[in-house]
Amino acid sequence: MKGMMMHRPLRIADIIDYAAIAHPQGEIVSVRTEGDVHRTTYREMSKRIAQLAHALKTLGISDGDRVATLAWNGYRHLELYYAISGIGAICHTVNPRLSAEQLTYIVNHAEDRVLFLDLTFVPIVEKLVGEFPKDMRYVIMTDRAHMPETSLPDVLCYEELLEGQPESIDWPEFPEDTAAGLCYTSGTTGNPKGTLFSHRSTLLHAMVLAISLPDALHEGRKVLPVVPLFHVNAWGLPYAAPLAGASLVFPGGALDGKSLFDLMDREKVYSAWGVPTVWQGLLAHIQAEGRVPEGFGDVVVGGSAAPPSMIEAFEDMGVNVCHAWGMTEMSPVGTQGNLPSFMDDMPKEERLLMKRKQGRKLFGVEMKIVGEDGNRLPHDGKTPGALYVRGNAITSGYYGNAEATEAAFDAEGWFGTGDVAMLDENGFLTITDRVKDLIKSGGEWISSIDLENVVMSHPDVASCAVIALPHPKWDERPLLVVVPVEGKKPTKEELVGLLGEHFAKWQLPDDVVYIDEMPLTATGKVSKLTLRERFKDHVLPDA
Ligand code: AMP
Repeated sequence: MKGMMMHRPLRIADIIDYAAIAHPQGEIVSVRTEGDVHRTTYREMSKRIAQLAHALKTLGISDGDRVATLAWNGYRHLELYYAISGIGAICHTVNPRLSAEQLTYIVNHAEDRVLFLDLTFVPIVEKLVGEFPKDMRYVIMTDRAHMPETSLPDVLCYEELLEGQPESIDWPEFPEDTAAGLCYTSGTTGNPKGTLFSHRSTLLHAMVLAISLPDALHEGRKVLPVVPLFHVNAWGLPYAAPLAGASLVFPGGALDGKSLFDLMDREKVYSAWGVPTVWQGLLAHIQAEGRVPEGFGDVVVGGSAAPPSMIEAFEDMGVNVCHAWGMTEMSPVGTQGNLPSFMDDMPKEERLLMKRKQGRKLFGVEMKIVGEDGNRLPHDGKTPGALYVRGNAITSGYYGNAEATEAAFDAEGWFGTGDVAMLDENGFLTITDRVKDLIKSGGEWISSIDLENVVMSHPDVASCAVIALPHPKWDERPLLVVVPVEGKKPTKEELVGLLGEHFAKWQLPDDVVYIDEMPLTATGKVSKLTLRERFKDHVLPDA
């Protein structure tokens, strides 16, 4: 027998309409690329979102069209999140840190129709225009006074686009599994893979996030997403914060310790979200100032493992550390690390050990760990295995990429995370290793295999491997290990120069080491485990 309740499709735009009524004073504070600080409220913003939605229609955007953004964290980027998905189109957030090759691939693979870009990224896009879809329109996210001289064709100005458009809109209705957002994430090899979020997955994720972190996501609180809107949906904050009534403080492009400290201090940010690299910078500045920013009480650390020293430093300052884990493919948050109240009386040392774990799973995230034989392993907190997940906010396949989709799921339809983990009886997750051959530097991915493929094209290289070395600032940095052809020795400059033709500067190895023979596993693959062990004490040039 079916229940007798209404079925109203879940729609993202309903969040902002709700916030405009229920949280009218909820603020959005943005450090703008124009150089000043901009303030608005959910109520005011909902009017601009309606204007933007009308404007998108005048550009011919409709159901299922992909509209790309290349922008920092700011109010205009948030407006795009809502207006694009609101009219049934797809907001494709593009990561400006990717190489020219990857950017070109992504924009063409998504077949984007319009690209909205911040002033900062005009020079990058000018160089790539010839490679992008021919009929793509370009909109610079600024006002007329700040429009730059540019070679971009038929370029439009964001504020002019909104002018004169109606300040309200009746959002169209469509099934709740309609696509709403698209975000590409690095694969272990080849081109990035697109995760296509739906209205339903986004709403469910936002609701679960808001109830899971009620202290940070609370009416009257200010939350700072340092985690970018262009990568991993800024961990769901664009949706969960207005839903809960929390204000958003957007840092723009200035993410160094001093800029963040000053902004947080001025705005009295309570909860700040980002990767460990960012918090290293903030911690250094806190030490220099001898105090924490006013009102700072909570830091959400994810994207890479939070170093124990960082957890302890924040906790000793009275700032709660919430160590979280997730993936783009999971919308992205899978766990949160606030401790349950039955742990309140634990001795400090034990609490710190609990906080090193990657937190407890969120409602709706099913997890299993399996051994090499594919069988499930116990959730006893001490047996590691490959981590698989399932749930309503987890990808069911990569956009337009059957091969990657095929490789990502097991026979039972669970998604393989590429992480190795232990689970305990209370749902706490501990990530122990990564099986995917990727390096995470400052929250962004570098593919070892892609680097290796280019290095192998050098005639003097017999074999090579790229491994991750721990790094105090960037969490991990790549080291290139080379076995030269007998009698030859290509220089570091030569090899890194060759890679520089294909990869962004920050993706290039920090150092090159030479060995006589590559260590192999029993199955004949390069044993990266052996290499990581062998070079664990290698000091990278600027570490
Ligand atoms: P992304 O899709 O870029 O967010 O990357 C997701 C991946 O980052 C995960 O599969 C992990 O390998 C890694 N990751 C995210 N959070 C953590 C964490 N707290 N500790 C260790 N690794 C993490």
